Amino acid sequence: MMVSRLYDSDVFRMACRQFDLAADAINLPESIRDRTKYPRRCLAVTLPIRRDDGTVTTYEGFRVQHNLSTGPSKGGIRFHENVTVGEVAALAMWMSWKCSLVGLPYGGAKGGVVVNPRELSTPELERLSRRYMQEMIGFVGPQIDIPAPDVGTNEQVMAWMMDTYSNHVGHVSPGVVTGKPVSVGGSEGRREATGRGVGYLVKSYLDDLKIPATEATVVIQGFGNVGSETAIALAEYGAKIIAISDYTGGVYNAKGIDIKKALAYIAWAKTLKDFDGGETVTNEQLLEIPCTVLVPAALERVITEENAGKIKCRILAEAANGPTTNAADKILDQRPEIEVIPDVLCNSGGVIVSYFEWLQNLQNYYWTRDEVLVKLYAMLDKAKVSVEYQKRKLKFSRRLAAQTLAIARVAEAKERRGLFP
Ligand code: NAD
Repeated sequence: MMVSRLYDSDVFRMACRQFDLAADAINLPESIRDRTKYPRRCLAVTLPIRRDDGTVTTYEGFRVQHNLSTGPSKGGIRFHENVTVGEVAALAMWMSWKCSLVGLPYGGAKGGVVVNPRELSTPELERLSRRYMQEMIGFVGPQIDIPAPDVGTNEQVMAWMMDTYSNHVGHVSPGVVTGKPVSVGGSEGRREATGRGVGYLVKSYLDDLKIPATEATVVIQGFGNVGSETAIALAEYGAKIIAISDYTGGVYNAKGIDIKKALAYIAWAKTLKDFDGGETVTNEQLLEIPCTVLVPAALERVITEENAGKIKCRILAEAANGPTTNAADKILDQRPEIEVIPDVLCNSGGVIVSYFEWLQNLQNYYWTRDEVLVKLYAMLDKAKVSVEYQKRKLKFSRRLAAQTLAIARVAEAKERRGLFP
């Protein structure tokens, strides 16, 4: 059995532990385990950029491609001050399982730069985004590895990266990244896809529990792309959003938060700090607020051994990647009153519509928003049914059901392709 030193970190060990549990549960042969589990390859880059004041600052960046056996790899790029290569590797691994679970012809990848993007001006952010893509040329491409936005990056960053790559190859190449603005080959519905998908699945599980959406209360940690779009989608179904947060802290209002007002405030103030929509709570307190649906939509490892016994919800919808630690999972397994929608299913709407965007780019044929959403919901329904079937048939937790299905498919593809040479 191989042990990786390069990626070793809490979050990578957590992803590996999940893999080991799934591999054991389906008796995955030893001979296929390590190569299914560990990332295929990784590129680390040093990124000097000129600051607005004329000085030069240098940043560290990574791209980890976990699996290339089932198609080009796919996954977001994170700009965050705490990025490590181990975190990027764990996120790449989860991308592999997600793509496999929902049946996309992709392997998983992820990228990251160790930077707080809020400390950069817009021109500095542009220089960093372009420099990152410049260093990735040859390692990414429409048939190799297709990045997308993640924490700290957005449509504008994707547009700069697409422009940098296109200038290098000498023609417009929109299929090199997804999550672009619609004006440069983005897909209708992509910006809201992850949150819409989370909302759609939550509604579907509420229906299974016979809880009317209009009677559901929702708490959301993280109010960026995914958190805010989840709030909008669930509010449209009639649910009441009672708490939201960002990196500065949270706001709680039992009567419901006006989401449009919160979005307008963030557009102006850039953060939720001092938003007067309710009482102030910390991110830790927020997770323990009694609610129907709890949505972690920020970073990994926030549901832990300490708070897993204290959360008070009927549905834990993992919009973020890896929000629940292995120890917390064990506690949640003993709490059947909480339905966990695991990350690889819950937030898969983002990569599904990224796949649609890539298809549209390759064909130069563009779809309407309705076409996108109808196809998105059909794929989510199919994935949910397969997870529920596996869960019942093998008496697994929902996470184990999702991961075993996904891992078995990747391992099967690797087995069929064989070893080269
Ligand atoms: P984003 O940068 O748009 O938003 C992140 C939000 O989390 C912001 O509100 C930020 O203030 C908040 N945040 C950061 N640190 C925090 C902390 N320590 N405590 C509380 N809040 C904090 O990022 P995003 O694209 O919305 O991604 C959120 C999560 O969803 C991540 O786990 C990401 O991997 C996952 N995800 C994103 C997509 C996508 O399409 N963007 C798809 C699938 C999964």
